[in-house]
Amino acid sequence: MFRTPILKNSECKNRIKILICKEFGTKNIFPFLRVFGRFLNLKVMDIRIVPCGFLKVQALEMIKPLSLDRIREKYMVDREGNMKLAMNALLVREGERNILMDPGTAEFLPARLKQEYGFEIQVSLEDVLKGYGVDPGVITDVLFTHLHFDHGSGAFKRVPGAIVKRFPNARYHVLKAHYDYALRPDPVEAGSFSTSLLRRLDQIHWLEDWDLEWMTFRIVNGHTRGMAVPVIETGKGRCYFLSDLVPMEIFMDRETWCGYDLDPQLVLQEKQEFLQNLPPGSRLIFFHDTLKESVFYE
Ligand SMILES: [Zn+2]
Repeated sequence: MFRTPILKNSECKNRIKILICKEFGTKNIFPFLRVFGRFLNLKVMDIRIVPCGFLKVQALEMIKPLSLDRIREKYMVDREGNMKLAMNALLVREGERNILMDPGTAEFLPARLKQEYGFEIQVSLEDVLKGYGVDPGVITDVLFTHLHFDHGSGAFKRVPGAIVKRFPNARYHVLKAHYDYALRPDPVEAGSFSTSLLRRLDQIHWLEDWDLEWMTFRIVNGHTRGMAVPVIETGKGRCYFLSDLVPMEIFMDRETWCGYDLDPQLVLQEKQEFLQNLPPGSRLIFFHDTLKESVFYE
């Protein structure tokens, strides 16, 4: 059903888009391709998965309704029943735009959350991005699929006396319906939001107003209300940043759901619908999978 990602070149309308995957392994080729591409009227899109560290959850709480033995066939689970989750952000560079999606968790979260979820951030987000030749100042847009702390609080940092934008020149985007919900969420998930950070922004940009030729959004309501799943047209096939609709490969199984889903029945329905209509060749990015950050769907 799956194969590992490979480099793809393709023609799109009368322009050529080149999708360079992380597996291509060259760190600094994008600036060169961008300049070279303009010269040849090529359109260059660069997509990278940005590892933002790990958190820890109870395996039986995360992956339902599977037994610990069944989960252990695939993932490492410690004696206390904990497993690690990745936080895989996505960086998409196209033309002058450098878009970062769900940039993980902030370092300054309350001790309660830090302890409960055992965050591990070994390399700072700045350093990870530097590895891709990207400075925080050149990020033009930050996109939040939803406002749970593990997906978006990393867009902020603490400086003496204040909490500020980590990407000072970026516009921060979230779906208005989700933002409104996150201000008064269901009590079950009230402790998972980092909505208050967005109040520090001069302006929040609504995702539904963002018109990009090569990106659309699917909206789902099972994990939380009004979660956006970005769909990127790469020129050959689509790339889906699945966020918590399918956070790990094991959730491709249509019977599984996550203990952190607000409405598991709805998640199963939305997942079913999503998988039924998924075009073969689509690349799927798994935000929380520690073993496989993406697969191609066939
Ligand atoms: Zn999550």
